[in-house]
Amino acid sequence: MGADKAGAWMADFAAQIHDNADMLTDLDRQIGDADHGSNMDRGMKAVAALAAADFPDSGAFLKKAGMTLVSTVGGASGPLYGTFLMRVGGAWPVEDSAEGIGVALRAGLEGIIQRGKAEVGDKTMVDALTPALVAYDAAAGEGTQAALDAAAKACAEGRDGTTPLVARKGRASYLGERSAGTQDPGATSVTMLIEAAARTLA
Ligand code: ADP
Ligand code: MG
Repeated sequence: MGADKAGAWMADFAAQIHDNADMLTDLDRQIGDADHGSNMDRGMKAVAALAAADFPDSGAFLKKAGMTLVSTVGGASGPLYGTFLMRVGGAWPVEDSAEGIGVALRAGLEGIIQRGKAEVGDKTMVDALTPALVAYDAAAGEGTQAALDAAAKACAEGRDGTTPLVARKGRASYLGERSAGTQDPGATSVTMLIEAAARTLA
């Protein structure tokens, strides 16, 4: 028990965001307003400052992490990432299992879709997370590590697949056809989140 695993997950993700903040902001400069890296870095610094040991379990910690992102990150990504983590935390299994973690991650994606109304193909983080969870479920019978590894690989493929797409949601959609040719910043950061999960949660 305790929130060690979720704490390790958030610490790993915070480090990835920090190390790649300039790259994320550069992607957002091309098809948005050049703040995705700085937005996420500010939020994840606040999450990393939470002490996982103060929380009874991973679910409670992840809910607080989500609330922290909502209150510290402006723009689209704060509420979307915040909703994801609050929903994942709310659905976190009492006993870790591949199936239980899959259910929790799925609840998170559903929260993003409810909140942002994006569909696959709209050039958002949903284009990376959706195939990631399909791959997770397909591999869940082989255990949590196999499922998370499969999810991370599919997430990266979904991220790469956003490059040619024309954005239909978020700021990038204001550019119309000119949004094609740049990888989506949110799909890029969310792949770091799932890759961090594969390093920490099994
Ligand atoms: P903002 O666009 O408000 O400046 P960010 O730059 O932090 O916010 O985040 C942009 C990212 O948010 C996009 O790359 C995209 O992946 C994601 N995004 C934007 N709108 C939506 C939406 N409606 N549904 C899902 N993801 C979205
Ligand atoms: Mg932006």
